[in-house]
Amino acid sequence: MDAAGTVLRGDLLVRDGVIAAVGPAVSGALAGATPEAEFDASGALVIPGLVHGHLHLCQTLFRGLAEQSDLLRWLRDRIWPLEAAHSASSVAASARLGLAELIAGGVTCINDMGTVRHTEVIGAALEASGIRAVFGKALMDQGEGVPGALLDSARAAIDEALALAKRFHGAAAGRLSVSLAPRFILSCSDALWREVSAEAASRGLIVHTHIAESPGEAHEVRAAVATTAARYFAARAVLGTGFVGAHGVWLDPHELSLLQDADAALVHCPGSNLKLGSGIAHVRAWRAAGIRCGLGSDGAACNNRLDSFHEMSLAALVSRMRGPGTAAAPAGENGSDAPLTTREVVALATCDGARALGMGDVTGSLEAGKQADIAVVDASGPHHAPDPARDPYATLVHAARTSDVRLTMVAGRVLYRDGAWTTLDPRAVQADGRAELAGLLRRATLVEVA
Ligand SMILES: [Zn+2]
Repeated sequence: MDAAGTVLRGDLLVRDGVIAAVGPAVSGALAGATPEAEFDASGALVIPGLVHGHLHLCQTLFRGLAEQSDLLRWLRDRIWPLEAAHSASSVAASARLGLAELIAGGVTCINDMGTVRHTEVIGAALEASGIRAVFGKALMDQGEGVPGALLDSARAAIDEALALAKRFHGAAAGRLSVSLAPRFILSCSDALWREVSAEAASRGLIVHTHIAESPGEAHEVRAAVATTAARYFAARAVLGTGFVGAHGVWLDPHELSLLQDADAALVHCPGSNLKLGSGIAHVRAWRAAGIRCGLGSDGAACNNRLDSFHEMSLAALVSRMRGPGTAAAPAGENGSDAPLTTREVVALATCDGARALGMGDVTGSLEAGKQADIAVVDASGPHHAPDPARDPYATLVHAARTSDVRLTMVAGRVLYRDGAWTTLDPRAVQADGRAELAGLLRRATLVEVA
């Protein structure tokens, strides 16, 4: 996934957590020395570790608990009451469960929205897991249907987010960074957005939020603030290089130009958008507008997989449809409706996804000097036969499965290899998850959904 699109058969050398050489350069870099450890990747594709641009680790415990809904009902009837019932230990269990799934799926970098309470335990879980991550406390200070336990004052929300940044920003040898994560327009006051804008600018923090996700949300946003999401953000200087907006299904052409002018980024979440019936984002239009973009699954309560291979496949497939979200297509531009190519889709999950998080120099491609964030994907099974190397992008997007991942490495450290995790015990994590879910459901006040 370098700029030239190089694909080669050969070796890759990692030294001190960094990619030291790729392909023909390896023997020169080794200079006759023998590597300390070797991994035989015969019959496999060695790819940049996958960059997951939008999720909620705190929702992994809610998998299967919020079905058959649309976005706002899903939030108000299920997700917010469940998040309000979280304890520090249930958040930790939820995060570890999600991380076990992500790491076994070749994901090496994530962008997590956290939750309102106990996000520091997500930070601790991220640190212990070995993954690379941006995360932040979800900021909420208003909103219809929001339980009191999830509401802060604007100042208290910001102060807690900044305390999190003080503890975790740049921690774990630079693997962790902290964002400001105002949830979305309907849950944040004008004062909170202005604080977010000022603090993000002065501290260089990412602003991670949801933008223009569903038609019902867009309708309520217009009723609440008398404009559309990107116009609202632009007017408050929330858009900028650090802005990362998830979904973006219902952005109009002018909003895309506002995002592009501000050098903001968007994250495509096709599985979540389909499951909640939100629509189909027009990623071709994002790209045509020059917007940096990545790929994410969203949380396990609306997908229900934290599976970047599944999202790559969906991203490619839905780009071939003319869905209701296609209103954003810039009219008359050459190729503005062309489906995404499989290489473009792999880029969303690797190099482009890294750029969307401001980490284009750090991760997202297999190039000397970058962090050794690597996934090895077995391509020797019958579902890859007869010739997976003929078109490796099609292999990755349309044929590969999460269960094909043989190795996941972050900064040169092996986190997963041939079915074994090195930083997490999956049995303990699953048992913990079941026990914490039982307690969480006892504490939660859930509205009966007809
Ligand atoms: Zn989300």
